[in-house]
Amino acid sequence: MTDAAETRRHQPESDCPLCPRLADFRRANRVAWPGWYHDPVPSFGTLDARVLVVGLAPGLKGANRTGRPFTGDYAGDLLYSTLIRLGLASGPYDARIDDGLILVDCRITNAARCVPPANKPLPAEFAACRPFLAAEIAAMPRLRGILCLGRESHDQVLTALGHRKSAHPFGHGALHRLGSGPVLVDSYHCSRYNTNTRRLTEAMFVAAVETLLDAITGE
Ligand code: SF4
Repeated sequence: MTDAAETRRHQPESDCPLCPRLADFRRANRVAWPGWYHDPVPSFGTLDARVLVVGLAPGLKGANRTGRPFTGDYAGDLLYSTLIRLGLASGPYDARIDDGLILVDCRITNAARCVPPANKPLPAEFAACRPFLAAEIAAMPRLRGILCLGRESHDQVLTALGHRKSAHPFGHGALHRLGSGPVLVDSYHCSRYNTNTRRLTEAMFVAAVETLLDAITGE
């Protein structure tokens, strides 16, 4: 397979029509907020990374606005400060796609690549986007660990990898070993809501990422 064909397997077309509700939402948002990104948001980082972070879906005023996962909203502030602190990112994070931040041995994607109304993709939309997630994982030859941000991300990653959800229940900080595949570590999503309610503290989030790094370092 050529590089271009491989990319098409894990990166949707800019006008991806597979989720009619989300395609309509993209069109409406283009009118409401001209100049924002609005396409399916591409993953950030290189495919030879050992760590993959999987979020839920682009935030309306974050990744959907800027075109880079978790960039421009509160969730990105916590995610990127943590990645920088733990050596998985380097440079300035300034909530802009051209801020100069680079990921180090790390890549970031979302289980659904298009912004959904009310931050909630439908089950059929996760299912439609799952082949892109599965292709993304398959295209990462050095992948050792996946950080799942939230229960939906956890469920989509397990399904994409062909594992039963009942055998690997979601739990913040939980480490799941999946045979010869990458390990999974769960975290509550680093959303403003979860941190405001103290469901997730910065210390809890850092600890979850450290669990993942310890697991892949110990292999
Ligand atoms: S969420 Fe994924 S499958 Fe659905 S329209 Fe967007 S890119 Fe296509």
